[in-house]
Formats: sequence, C-alpha cells, structure tokens
Amino acid sequence: MQKTRKTIRALAAISLLLLLLSNHLTAGDEPAFRIGNIVAEQGSIVSGDLEVPSGPDGTTTIPLTIVHGTKSGPVLAVCAGIHGSEYAPVMALQRFRSEIDPAHLSGVVIIVQVANLPSFLGRAIYYSPVDRKNPNSTFPGKLDGTMTERISYVLTNQVVERADYLVDIHAGEANESLVPYVAYGADAVDPAVAQKSEQMAIAFGFPIVKKLSGRPKDPAASASLSNTGVTRGKPTIGIESGQLGERDGESVSRIDRGIWSLLRHLQMVPGAPSPSQHPLYVEQDVAIRSSVDGIFYPQVEAGTLVNADAPLGYVTDFFGHRISEIRAPFHGIVLYLLATPPVSKNEILVSIAHPVVPATEPPSPPH
Ligand SMILES: [Zn+2]
Repeated sequence: MQKTRKTIRALAAISLLLLLLSNHLTAGDEPAFRIGNIVAEQGSIVSGDLEVPSGPDGTTTIPLTIVHGTKSGPVLAVCAGIHGSEYAPVMALQRFRSEIDPAHLSGVVIIVQVANLPSFLGRAIYYSPVDRKNPNSTFPGKLDGTMTERISYVLTNQVVERADYLVDIHAGEANESLVPYVAYGADAVDPAVAQKSEQMAIAFGFPIVKKLSGRPKDPAASASLSNTGVTRGKPTIGIESGQLGERDGESVSRIDRGIWSLLRHLQMVPGAPSPSQHPLYVEQDVAIRSSVDGIFYPQVEAGTLVNADAPLGYVTDFFGHRISEIRAPFHGIVLYLLATPPVSKNEILVSIAHPVVPATEPPSPPH
C-alpha cells in the first residue's frame, strides 16, 4: 500500500512537471485548439485533412484549417462546399485563408475549405455522386450512415459543436443563376439566437436578407447545416453568392469582404464592420418546380421584381413545342432560377420570395 502511494505521488509530480513544461513550450496561455488530428497552437494557422469514418461506400476527408489567434475570443466556423458545384464560396475561403493572420485575431476561425469532397471532385449538383443524397437533408448525420450522412455527422460534432458562431456559404449551383443574399433563422426557438443571427446577417453587408421560417426545431432532425447551428443554439447565417460555375470576380470578393466585416462585428479583428445599408428583407422563398421533362427557357433574371401572374419562363419538349409555362404566384423577387437548358420533372425552375414591407420607411439618404 505504502509503495502504491509513493508511486502515485511520483506520477503526480511527473505529470505536474510535464504540464509546466508543455505550458512553457506553447506559444500562448491557451491550450492548443484541436479538431481530429489537426492541432493549432495559440498564434498559429494549421491546415489538414479531417478524417471521415470509412464505411461500405468508401472513405473521404474534409480539408480544414484552424486559425488560432494570439488573443482569446469566440470560435467562428465558416464552411464552403456543402454542394458540389458551388465554387465561389470555395475560392473565397482559399483567399480568406491567405489573408487571415493569427497575430491579429482574437479567438479561433475554423475554415471548412470543401465540406463535401466527393461532390466537389465529382462536379455534382444537388446530390452526392456516391449515395445520391442532398447533404442539406442529412444533418445532423449518422456515424454508421452513407458517405454524405457520415460527412454531416463529422461536421455536426467536430465543427458546429465546437463553434460559437456559424456561417454556411453557398452559391447557385453550376446550372443556376442567383442574386446574392444572406439568410438567417428568424424562427429560432431561442429569440436571442435569432437576434444575434440577424445582426450577423446585417454585418455581412449583403443587399438582401432572407428571413428563414418553418424549419425543423428538433436538433436530432435539423436537416441542413445552418439549421444544425440554430437548433444547437449557435447564431448562424447562410450565404448565397455566385452562380453558373463562377470561380472569381465579385461573387468571390463579396464573400471575402463579408467574412472580414463579420469578424469586425464579432470583435475578433480590429476595425469597424461594413454592414448592409437599408437591406431588402424577404420572406422564406417559394420554389416553383417543373411538371414535365424538357428544355427550360427563362423569361426573367435573378434579382428581378415581378408582379403576380407575370410570366417567369416556359418548358418545351425536345422538338421545341411549348408544353408548360410558369407564372409568378405573387408579387416578389426572383432569388434564383435554372439557367441551363435541361430540366427534369419536379426540379426547381424559379425561386421567388415575398419582400417584407418595413414597419417604418428607412431614413432617406442626405441630398
Ligand atoms: Zn448549396
């Protein structure tokens, strides 16, 4: 017994020594920030491939960067590449990674560079080429599920759960035209989460703000990445910028600027944010789907304000005969639309949203 006590005391002394030594060796006062095998000491930026557990349908990884600031602060996660052909967000996060300096950062930024690598490398739209699932219907994911479900499981447990704030960045897919907008869960169970999310949305600086509603409230059935954040009590926004396979230009710059403005809003970097000036608020959009297979001819552009019953486009058969036409169900703004010819039955042709009439007119700009 005496011998055991002595051994315990000796082990405790060694542990204390090792702890003091490791504290002495680290760059700052905080412990390293670790996600899987990616470890970032305070004041460092570290990238690596986060492993997704393998399954009968194969293996994959998630390329991820941790930026661990020299000062303490909140954890912000920014994620691109949930869908396979939304390139502007992926390119914007590459640019942001090259710009961010941990020496000027308070807190941690987790950058998910490409969330769904099989979809990205497979140039897929909407659905993963491995299991034909739309990632944004599989959250919070399953450890023993298919490839997309396992990716969602890792993102939920290793990224969302570690974050205080979440930004899920999308674009129109390679076949879609889209007007940029930022969305937040106006119907979050916790009103404080909704309020902070709205403030993040404004801070991002986009001209259109969409108020999401009617999404699942159960964290075990959150469906999308952004709702996974909301149902876990994390202020969250969804970003849409980019279209038709764009890889550069304003779609990319807009996202990069938005992240910097958000970092300033969250006081994670010095400086004043550049919030939206008099943003147009819109309600949850309504998707109009095709009733037939064929070739789509749009008659509006993304961002167009249309009156109720205005023609939005038509579908022909493969010989050129019009077989279906769609009209605006209400006065609204076109958020995105199918902009390449092929369309299958039940696919979305046009998405349209109600503008929200402001309670009070915004102040008019000085003359
Ligand atoms: Zn998307």
